[in-house]
Amino acid sequence: MVITVEQVREKYPKEYWDLSDWEVQQVLDYMYFICEFSINWHKTHPGESLLKWIKKESEAPFNKEWHKSNSMPMRATLDQKIKWHIEHVAHCKCRPIPDKIKQEIQKRLG
Ligand SMILES: [Zn+2]
Repeated sequence: MVITVEQVREKYPKEYWDLSDWEVQQVLDYMYFICEFSINWHKTHPGESLLKWIKKESEAPFNKEWHKSNSMPMRATLDQKIKWHIEHVAHCKCRPIPDKIKQEIQKRLG
């Protein structure tokens, strides 16, 4: 069974939930992604608790594996630093993007 945007609209009229059809579809896609992820996860981790695993992951601030294979280049250029920090926050939560780098990214985005 697949839930459609129309069914969501019927159950939750627009005055309660002011999202465009596209946004409702994004929410549905995300929901199905979570379901699929959960099913696949249970296949590869039989008998383990997914909630416990999510909690453990979110409490692990330092991604040792990622840092091991992604060290900042020696005398990195500004471009390299920006690229490194963007990839870093996507994989590891040990520290945020420094303000100076954030400003550079914003400058480049115009
Ligand atoms: Zn890190």
